Amino acid sequence: MNNPHTDKMVLSIAGSDPSGGAGIQADLKTFCVAGVYSGAVITCLTVQNTRGVTAYEPVAPELVKEQIRSVLEDMPVSHIKTGMIGTAGIAAGIGEALKDFPGEIICDPVLAATGGQPLLDLEAREAFLEHIAGRATVLTPNIPELEILFNERCTCAEEIIRAGNRVLEQFPGLRAVIVKGGHLPVSDQVTDYMVGRGEGSGENTVIAESHPYINSENTHGTGCTFASAFTAFHLRSGGDDQAAFRQAVSFMDQLLTCSVSHSLGSGKGPLMHHIIQS
Ligand code: PLP
Repeated sequence: MNNPHTDKMVLSIAGSDPSGGAGIQADLKTFCVAGVYSGAVITCLTVQNTRGVTAYEPVAPELVKEQIRSVLEDMPVSHIKTGMIGTAGIAAGIGEALKDFPGEIICDPVLAATGGQPLLDLEAREAFLEHIAGRATVLTPNIPELEILFNERCTCAEEIIRAGNRVLEQFPGLRAVIVKGGHLPVSDQVTDYMVGRGEGSGENTVIAESHPYINSENTHGTGCTFASAFTAFHLRSGGDDQAAFRQAVSFMDQLLTCSVSHSLGSGKGPLMHHIIQS
């Protein structure tokens, strides 16, 4: 079968979650069910279960850099997806390894675990913005990440869109900012936004995709999964941001729906990537 997307692959750069709900484990499951091949570079080992993160140990920055280089020099990576970075040294190491990378860099700016435990040192934020966000083509923050990292206030659609436009202005290499609306006050609908850079001197575009609010205990890893789903669909669509965004929103809706009645662990349970009907 001649299938062009099978000749390209993703490389995920993220932390490990031994409970399998978030981090690199969530990324790999998502890429697998979405039909793309992925490698995995681990930045930090976390100690966690569904009740939360109790510790983490960063990998030496040089080793993170060498893992990336080793895969990039040998394999056809078209898309990099980043998640938990951990420290300023790791951010700088990743930045160096990606200095000449010509493909897509989809950056999920992970600041904290679902339970609130920090996953990026305070002093690493500047390094993260410089070395990773500054090289990204697409950014996928949730509302708290947008507020904290970029000093924006996001309490309604207008503020989210304004913040997306300002982030595009701040980072000329970015083509789109995708903001997950799940942290706005609960209503029967959740809306996710994609603010895309206008072509030439054209205006930026805004796409809003709404889906029913799903009241679920199984939300561990939704941020990682969403960013990975966008990455996979972007690769498969041949680089269509809007199609990939719509497909990722619909994939999440399906995945949250099929996960809601399951229960693994006593805290925030994982998503059930393995039972989604593709
Ligand atoms: N990466 C790692 C290694 C994590 O442990 C977590 C959360 O615990 C995250 C990323 C972010 O998770 P979420 O997708 O729930 O935002």
